[in-house]
Amino acid sequence: MELKRVALIAHDGKKDDLVDFVKAHQGWFETLELVGTGTTGGRVAELGMSVRRLASGPLGGDAQIAALITEGLLDAVVFFRDPMGKHPHEPDVNMLLRQCDVHNVALATNRATAELLVQAANPAQG
Ligand code: PGA
Repeated sequence: MELKRVALIAHDGKKDDLVDFVKAHQGWFETLELVGTGTTGGRVAELGMSVRRLASGPLGGDAQIAALITEGLLDAVVFFRDPMGKHPHEPDVNMLLRQCDVHNVALATNRATAELLVQAANPAQG
């Protein structure tokens, strides 16, 4: 599976996990075109990685990522959701998940699945 353009998103309760996950596979992530919601993208950029930062999730970042999917501009979404949290932008999140299904874009909503995605896309690093 070839993945080149990947979106990174994490709810607040999962941001540390996402940063840890990206760090664990940093060599591979550095070969990709990354886009992220505002705060998540900022955290990933702190690792010294290049990431295009969109709006913060509650301000429309998830909706922007959904629009990129609709335009055929993303290959995969890694979205570490916090199932325990309440989120004001739940409608945008649902729209993003739906657009992944509409356009058959790979979607990992937890670390176990994200690890499988890395293994499938890059067996050398898995
Ligand atoms: P954030 O947005 O990266 O700007 O926090 C993510 C989200 O809450 O969906």
